[in-house]
Amino acid sequence: MPTSSITVRVPAKINLQLSVGPREKDGYHNLVSVFQAISIFDDVTVKRADVGNGITIAISGEQTHGVPADSSNLAVKAAQLVAKRFDISSDLHIEIKKSIPVAGGMAGGSADAAATLVALDALFHLELSREELHKLGSELGSDVPFMISGGTAVGQGRGDQLTAALSRGTYHWVLALSSVGLSTPAVYAECDRMRAELEIAPPQVSDALMQSLLAADAEAVGRALSNDLQSAACSLRPALSLVLEVGRDYGALGAIVSGSGPTVAFLVADEDAGLDLAVALTASGVVGSVARALGPVPGAKVDRKSTRLNSSHRCI
Ligand code: ATP
Repeated sequence: MPTSSITVRVPAKINLQLSVGPREKDGYHNLVSVFQAISIFDDVTVKRADVGNGITIAISGEQTHGVPADSSNLAVKAAQLVAKRFDISSDLHIEIKKSIPVAGGMAGGSADAAATLVALDALFHLELSREELHKLGSELGSDVPFMISGGTAVGQGRGDQLTAALSRGTYHWVLALSSVGLSTPAVYAECDRMRAELEIAPPQVSDALMQSLLAADAEAVGRALSNDLQSAACSLRPALSLVLEVGRDYGALGAIVSGSGPTVAFLVADEDAGLDLAVALTASGVVGSVARALGPVPGAKVDRKSTRLNSSHRCI
């Protein structure tokens, strides 16, 4: 009997470096983005469905607010792309169990698109190479190829030309989450506005960051964190400056707005330091909620256990 359902677990990302070049004529910016995949996950299940409904989607989990349950969902777009490219006529149902904060600068939508590509590859035995999956992913969004690979990687160009970073060690993160997201295009527009009079150099990979990752030197990684969108995110959401300050005051090795925000990521020395900082941030009252995570973790992966149970139609 063919497998009728595949579940893929996919992580969130944070940016250890995000350098943004000048706005190009087409409105985009050349980027250098050092991504790290961290242990906050969405689970995406893709099933063959009853004839006649096309591609349907259902969202559940801790983070559902603001996630579209229609064809504008990036997971549906990923399924449409694969169906068209590989001439798949079967109806599909996608279920997303979301834990990745929405519009939080953690690439949750791109993660779900990556998971859907990996699930369809397995469901229809397409046997796509990593490169082919990346190519499909880059048609959906510049963060999607990284969400397929995970780990720690450098993205260049629009962020989608990926090379693995030579990184050692495990990093402990405390995340200050916000219940209201920030729009990525709005943050880029604010960044352009703030830099209107400045000469912006092409973005470069930070040697200091690369060397500290290679040396597994968390203190040096903390010092080397950088994000060109941070001032723009703080300008649109002034409370973020205070969150960054509180985390630094409580002893974080580094503090950074992740991507376009509003999630703030604090690097800490170990698990105990993470617990202390999480308690301090919660008690400070300046943070909506707090999560802890480890990085790096692998990218989108078939969850063998859920997939086997689903394929024999057992309830879990
Ligand atoms: P970006 O990747 O642009 O930095 P982000 O990480 O800040 O974005 P996402 O969680 O990807 O934010 O959500 C951005 C918007 O994308 C949401 O507000 C939502 O309208 C839309 N969206 C589409 N598909 C999804 C999805 N599967 N999960 C979350 N949001 C989605």
